[in-house]
Amino acid sequence: MNIENIWNRFLSTIKRKVNTLSFNTWFRDSKLVDISDNNIIIIVPTPAHKKHLAESYIDIIKEIFNEITGTNFNVEFLLENEYQKNIVNDNNELDEEIGVPFNNPEKANLNPDYTFENFIVGESNRFAQATALAVAENPGKMYNPLFIYGNSGLGKTHLMQAIGNYIIKNTTKRVLYVTSDQFINDFLGLNKKDKDGKNFDYIDLFKDKYRNIDVLIIDDIQFLGNAPKTQNEFFHTFNTLYDDKKQIIISSDSSPDDLKHLEDRLRTRFNWGLKVNIFPPDNELRKEILRKKMANMDFSSHMSEDAIDYIANMCHSDVRSLEGALTRVCAYSTIFFEEEITLDLAIEALKGTISSSTNFKNDIQKIQRVVAEYYNVSVDDLKSKKRVATIAFPRQIAIYLSRNLTDESFPRIGMEFGGRDHSTVIHSCDKIANEIKNNKQLENIIEEIKKKLE
Ligand code: ADP
Ligand code: MG
Repeated sequence: MNIENIWNRFLSTIKRKVNTLSFNTWFRDSKLVDISDNNIIIIVPTPAHKKHLAESYIDIIKEIFNEITGTNFNVEFLLENEYQKNIVNDNNELDEEIGVPFNNPEKANLNPDYTFENFIVGESNRFAQATALAVAENPGKMYNPLFIYGNSGLGKTHLMQAIGNYIIKNTTKRVLYVTSDQFINDFLGLNKKDKDGKNFDYIDLFKDKYRNIDVLIIDDIQFLGNAPKTQNEFFHTFNTLYDDKKQIIISSDSSPDDLKHLEDRLRTRFNWGLKVNIFPPDNELRKEILRKKMANMDFSSHMSEDAIDYIANMCHSDVRSLEGALTRVCAYSTIFFEEEITLDLAIEALKGTISSSTNFKNDIQKIQRVVAEYYNVSVDDLKSKKRVATIAFPRQIAIYLSRNLTDESFPRIGMEFGGRDHSTVIHSCDKIANEIKNNKQLENIIEEIKKKLE
C-alpha cells in the first residue's frame, strides 16, 4: 500500500468516527507525507491543528493507523515549513475528553444560526475558526481566554456564538453570551437600591448570572473602556471564572495591547490565553460566501459568475456589507421578476449603495455636522464638556438623533461625543424623547434636521 492509499483509507475511516465539522476542520486539509520505521508524519495547515490533533485526537488516529497497517506508529504533526526544514518535534500524547452529546436548551443569549456549519472558512479566518473550534471541543482547557479581534463585520460575533452553540449542543455546560453593553447595564443595576434601601437580591442575581456558568462569551469588550467601575467588576468576574478553569471568550475591534482605555491588569489578562486576529476576506472567500449564501437562501434565481465577481469586488472590506449587497441584489431580482441575476442586474441593484454602506460608520459624524450647523455651534463644542445651554441642548439633540438614526450602541455614541459615559447618552435620549412629546416646536426642529440628513 502506498502512502496515498493509506491516507485515503485513514480519511474514510476517521470520517465515519467524527462528525463532519470536525472532519472538515481537522483532517480534510491535512496530509500524510512520510512513513518510516515507527514514525508517521502528517502535515497540517496551522499550529492550532498541530496542538489540537496531538492533544485531542491522537489516540483515535493511532488506532486507525494500527487497523490499516497492523503497526503501532508514532504520529507527528508538522507545518509545511517545519517539514521542509526537517525539524522534528516530540509529540505530545495528552488525552482529553470530548464533550458528550447532551441536549440542553440553556438560555444563553445565542442566535442558533451562528454555527460552525454556517461559517465559511478561507485563508483570512482559518486560524480563528480552527482555534474557535478547538475551544468549543475543549472548553476551559485549550486556550483561556480566547481573544478574537478584528474590524467590524468580519465574523467575530458569529464565531464566538458558534462556540457557544456547539458547547450547548454537545455538553451540559452552561454558556452565557453578553455584549459588554449588557454587562455594563447589569452592573449599573447593582447600584440601584430597592425602596427599603437594599440591593442584596440584585447582587446575588448578578453573581449568579456571571459566576455560575462554565463559559462566558463577552462581545465588543472595547466598550468597557468608557466604564471604569464596570471594568473593576469585570476584573473580579474574570478572575473567579479563570481560577475555576471556566472558559472565557472575548472579542474586540483591536488587539488587547491597543485597548488603551482598559486597565493594564485587564489587558495583561487578555494576553494570558490566545489572541487571534480575523482578517478581511480575500476575493476567493468573498465569492465562496456569496455562492454558499445563495445556495442556503433557497432562492430560485441563478447568479452568473460575472455578477458574483462584481459583487465580490465591490464589497471588499467585510462580510456584513457583502451580505447586505447580496440581499439587495436578490430583492431587486425578485421585484423585477428576473430569473437570472446577471452582471447588469447586479450593477443596477447596487448603484449608489456601496459607497454609502462603507460610509455608514460616519453617520454619527454626519449628524454632528448637521446639528452643529443648524445651531451654529462647532462639532468640537458638541464633543466638549461645556455645559452652557446653547451647546448642551444641541449636543443632546445630536445624541438623540445618533441613537435613533444609526445602529450604534450607547457606549459607542458616548465615545463619539468626547468620551461621555453611556449613562449620559441614555439620559440625553430619554430627555429629548420626553420633550418632543410635549413640545410641538421641538418636534418640528427634529423633523427639519432629519430632512437635512437625508
Ligand atoms: P463582527 O462581530 O466581526 O462585526 P459578525 O459576526 O456580526 O461580525 O458578522 C457579520 C455578518 O457576516 C453576520 O451575518 C455573519 O453571519 C456573517 N459572516 C461573517 N463571516 C462569515 C463567514 N466566514 N461565513 C459566513 N457568514 C459570515
Ligand atoms: Mg460583532
